[in-house]
Amino acid sequence: MVFTQPFCSSPCSQHYNHLMTDHFLILIPADPYFVPLLEQAQIANDYLTSLLPDAELVIWNASETVEFVDCGDNFERILCPACGAEIAITDWQHMMDAAYASHFDDLSATVPCCGANGSLNDLHYEWPAGFARFTLEALNPNADLDDPHLLTLESILGCPIRKIWRSL
Ligand SMILES: [Zn+2]
Repeated sequence: MVFTQPFCSSPCSQHYNHLMTDHFLILIPADPYFVPLLEQAQIANDYLTSLLPDAELVIWNASETVEFVDCGDNFERILCPACGAEIAITDWQHMMDAAYASHFDDLSATVPCCGANGSLNDLHYEWPAGFARFTLEALNPNADLDDPHLLTLESILGCPIRKIWRSL
């Protein structure tokens, strides 16, 4: 985004920064390792573009390795799916470091709260976040997707979808 006015110091910088926040609607397969076919990705991209005419950009990406798709400033906390306890960020970062040693090929982890084993992708991220090799995202869509549209996108891509809102 282009800065069209000089940055002003407090007290108005807060308002100014607020105006600069970008919102990304990011769709990822529920399965972190799933990548749709090129044709499926393009059809889904076109369909999402038609659903979100206000979006500044709609783009898909497929990467060689699994990446963590975060929710940016929307992050609040992470909960254990087994016992509901809040997971300390430092504990989560240790689990992330261990998983990143395999470039997220192996997302399995043991949570410190109750000792449950599972995937880092299945922790309860608030707001939602997740792991993916494929992303389909819209920049500043100025609208949300309703369930029928999400179901259609899942049908096009051939996989269940997780919806992530990232604010930066
Ligand atoms: Zn737990």
